[in-house]
Amino acid sequence: PSALRSLFLDTVPVRYSDIGGQASTIQKLRECIEWPLLHPDAFERLGIRPPKGVLLYGPPGCSKTLLVRACATESGVNFMAVKGPELLNKYVGESERAVREIFAKARAASPSIIFFDEIDALATSRSGSDSGGGSHEGVLTSLLNEMDGVQELVGVTVVAATNRPDAIDSALMRPGRLDRILYIGPPDLEGREEILRIRTRKMKVAQDLDIAELARMTDGCSGAEISALCQEAALLTMKKDIDAPLVPYESFLVAARNLKKQITPEVKAQF
Ligand code: ATP
Repeated sequence: PSALRSLFLDTVPVRYSDIGGQASTIQKLRECIEWPLLHPDAFERLGIRPPKGVLLYGPPGCSKTLLVRACATESGVNFMAVKGPELLNKYVGESERAVREIFAKARAASPSIIFFDEIDALATSRSGSDSGGGSHEGVLTSLLNEMDGVQELVGVTVVAATNRPDAIDSALMRPGRLDRILYIGPPDLEGREEILRIRTRKMKVAQDLDIAELARMTDGCSGAEISALCQEAALLTMKKDIDAPLVPYESFLVAARNLKKQITPEVKAQF
């Protein structure tokens, strides 16, 4: 049986229109993911090397995963997602085999994207081995070997994401590996308005909902927190009245006031 069976995430297609406030990142992602996969001839014609891999970094909940999934959907390429820590919870040698298998599958399914979420788990500085059995070093080496297999890796783009860019082994970021690095930060005012609009699109909400005010109140929040706020507003409403026909503005205000922001100044200072 495949060592990977349990590693792939269930995926509901995400579109660019599901993502608020990330227009310029989407454009950059298209250049370094979509162009090499769908227009390799253009790079060849103009005599430049397409980017091989992309590292996305930034605070938690700021749509890294969402962006890569949307990029795969919109460009119509295959998508494989693997979480770093899941690769490590394996017997000796199993993790390396899993890495080889991922790349083999991605090549067979090209054009394709391999997404390594929480890459820091396996790419963390190569000292000592993991007490859990598989060693970080072995996994990292396999990963680098696969990425360096220049010829065969045509039609496969590797995207990795992390909240801890400082913890990543610099060998991963050499040219020809993760050679594009993009910061994905928390949304600005306009971005937060967009996210609020997207998240309330499918909800039944009061007519007088003041999106602009909610966007101002959520300064410093991640997309994930804004999304959770909308959920919380609906739950508060249900708690008061399980038959409520819609979510009143007041519930959003209460949820916004109760919000504990994850991206504190200390967290932000890390990036
Ligand atoms: P982590 O670093 O914690 O893995 P992440 O940066 O990968 O987080 P996502 O998993 O993409 O973040 O986002 C978490 C959830 O937050 C998404 O599934 C979505 O519901 C919501 N969300 C985040 N950013 C946005 C956004 N820009 N527009 C709409 N929804 C968003």
